Amino acid sequence: MLQDVLDDVRSDTSGATADYIPELARADPAPLALAAVGPRGRVFTVGDDHVEFTIQSMSKPFVLALALRELGRERVLRSVGVEPSGEPFNAISLEAGTGRAANPLVNAGAIATTSLIAGTDVEERTGRIVGVLSQFAGRSLWVDEAVYASESESGHRNRALAHLMRSYGSMQGSVDLAVESYFRQCSVLVTVRDLAVMAGTLAFGGVNPTTGERVVSERIARDVVSIMSSCGMYDFSGEWLLRVGLPAKSGVSGGILAVAPSQYGVGVFSPRLDSHGNSVRGSGVLERLSEDFGMHLLEPHESIAEPGISVERTEDGVTVLLGGELGFAGAERVLSVLGEVVGALPDGATITVDARDVARLHPAALTAIRDVLGGDAGRIRLLE
Ligand code: GLU
Repeated sequence: MLQDVLDDVRSDTSGATADYIPELARADPAPLALAAVGPRGRVFTVGDDHVEFTIQSMSKPFVLALALRELGRERVLRSVGVEPSGEPFNAISLEAGTGRAANPLVNAGAIATTSLIAGTDVEERTGRIVGVLSQFAGRSLWVDEAVYASESESGHRNRALAHLMRSYGSMQGSVDLAVESYFRQCSVLVTVRDLAVMAGTLAFGGVNPTTGERVVSERIARDVVSIMSSCGMYDFSGEWLLRVGLPAKSGVSGGILAVAPSQYGVGVFSPRLDSHGNSVRGSGVLERLSEDFGMHLLEPHESIAEPGISVERTEDGVTVLLGGELGFAGAERVLSVLGEVVGALPDGATITVDARDVARLHPAALTAIRDVLGGDAGRIRLLE
């Protein structure tokens, strides 16, 4: 099925490779690849999955995750906003009054975020950054020195952005340290498989699905995915949410990584870019995946409102066994089943509600059930 999706977009050769970084302009435009990782860590890849390319802006969500892990949300928000900019990725525009960049996924905001990472020199800071990117990918990654040199030589606009933020005070410390670390983070080599696993680690609440390692907390993963959903696709983010509905981040090398929360991490690669700087065929692949595989973020799902419920007879009454995910909306269903069970039982019979096997229990659901059962405390026992 994944191969079919690739074949569908293969003939579209519109767009052009990024040319403002000389080393990227030389990239072969032909490769096309797709990878997806599911909840149990199985990775599927099709197309040119062996090709390595630089991560570019797709590093930004993960450096943001590192900043959140090192410093917490409030500190990060003092340096950078979380509003979609509606402007190109390298726009020279900062928030009036504060001088903050619009969000951590445009260049200015990403440089400000990188400047927050601990490290007194480029090597130390980049070490931490490449370290966290490697944790997300589940293997050791490294920097392509030729692309780094090319970015560093041609990155005057990024340097200008950093100087501007430094002058407003929204960025502190050395401009050189911030931008050189940022250029190195953009020059880390990855494959589509890496992108899929990195996206998967966000999709599965901060746990790398292939290594089982917790890289960031569930809350940090959710924060990052939230910002990706509103800001990840440059000035196409709004239309992207409508058409594809997968929080995503693209990079000028032609990669896109996308997060289908609790379902899949996806990576695509095809170097030709559209006028927003997003991969043409990569976007096409993700649009197809979202449509055909039901992955749109706002697609309705039954499971949270329909926990698993089975009723078993015991010697002195019944046991109601709960499983799956028990959310607040699901509590209503549990209570209505209990109502039926209670009505059908003879006086004196006891009812045990066993929630010990619930895979994901939302506290508000349990509180609601406990409150209602409290009135019948003598007859109904809750195991949690
Ligand atoms: N290194 C690139 C730059 O700073 C990243 C841009 C991108 O991938 O959007 O211009």
